[in-house]
Amino acid sequence: MKRPDKLQVVGSRDAVAPPGSTQRIVESVTTAIIERRLMPGTKLTEQKIADIFKVSRTVVRQALNQLSRDHLVTLEPARGAFVAIPSVQEARQVSEVRTMIETAMVRQLCARITDIQIRQLRIHLREEQEAIHRTDISGRTRLLADFHILLARMLGNEVLAQWLTDLLNRSSLISLMYQSSHSAEQSHHEHVQIVDVLEKRDARAAARLMDRHIASVQRNLRLDPDSTDLADALRPL
Ligand SMILES: [Zn+2]
Repeated sequence: MKRPDKLQVVGSRDAVAPPGSTQRIVESVTTAIIERRLMPGTKLTEQKIADIFKVSRTVVRQALNQLSRDHLVTLEPARGAFVAIPSVQEARQVSEVRTMIETAMVRQLCARITDIQIRQLRIHLREEQEAIHRTDISGRTRLLADFHILLARMLGNEVLAQWLTDLLNRSSLISLMYQSSHSAEQSHHEHVQIVDVLEKRDARAAARLMDRHIASVQRNLRLDPDSTDLADALRPL
């Protein structure tokens, strides 16, 4: 999968905005949010972004509008742009939609997945595991989300892959805010189980495991502030 350049290294030397520079800003900011380099609530100053990318503020504004349509950025009148802070209700709704789409997706995939694709999934799982062992937080957040997009791509449906990418970006932002640090390993383990049943072409088990996986990701989000356990909060992780 194509990985956009990092925010801090992007920026062409010439001052003229090249075609696609709006998209380049959108991709860099999206990647920075998903990889935890830009946290929810961070102010995105138009002028600073314009300087980094060597583009006009108009181009930056277009990019911020696009990011706002993607629900990754909030535009506040007279205050400017901020990395979005998703609400608890939004977190629940995103999970619900993902369950609807992704259980159907794995069910379909069982009917047509090839042995080569299974091998690709195993390679992806190894990368996930390595990122988790390295405690590479940005890498693992990206790879855990990419697993789902990879499944969508394997169906050969670009509309689905694109739609799921947008949804997963929102999910990653929600995870940044609410996910406990223990759940990455659990997510990886559940991905392994999903690939195991895909290999057996067991559609019912695949749908059940995907349903459970998204539910457990949702459960691991600390959506209820009262439920914060002191021992859990102070665990040295
Ligand atoms: Zn997952």
